Amino acid sequence: MNFCSNCAAPVVLKTPPGDHLPRFVCENCGTIHYRNPLLVLGCVPQWEDRILICRRAIEPRRGYWTAPAGFMENGETLQAAAARECHEEALATVEVGSLLAIVSVTHAHQVHVMFRARLLEPVFAPGPESLEVRLVSEQEVPWEDIAFPSGLFALRKFFSDRSAGREDHHFAELRGRFKPGTSSVPEPA
Ligand code: ZN
Repeated sequence: MNFCSNCAAPVVLKTPPGDHLPRFVCENCGTIHYRNPLLVLGCVPQWEDRILICRRAIEPRRGYWTAPAGFMENGETLQAAAARECHEEALATVEVGSLLAIVSVTHAHQVHVMFRARLLEPVFAPGPESLEVRLVSEQEVPWEDIAFPSGLFALRKFFSDRSAGREDHHFAELRGRFKPGTSSVPEPA
């Protein structure tokens, strides 16, 4: 950040009195510009024994596969954000179910929250951010081409829980960069 979004004066990076971290501070109007992690909400929509996944039409990871997910908007609940993202990316209507995974993606300043969900009908199509949307069985998941490690973590936990007849929630912390198909997902901390 270079300029104050309130008054357009240059900002300086310094630790405000009583704080413990440097912030962008406007010495003209006094505004302290806090920057905190963003929430990414998604779901694993199920229809019979298959799940819905999307192939990304946008960067990052264009062409790779993901469970529908995206940035939460102000005024939404977690579940409403997950359902909206599914509708935007896969033009599919879901009933959001139990919490599946919370992944702290510390290097990206994000927290990813994934729910289980039920497709209300097997109707879907690519939204503007998707190249393709598919219903796949566990064996048909393109495991080497999953876009993000948080999604990989959530999908693995989804299927292992389903096999065990459970609906647990799972936590993980991802610190490093990730190359699809080459890195393994760390076990939860
Ligand atoms: Zn200012």
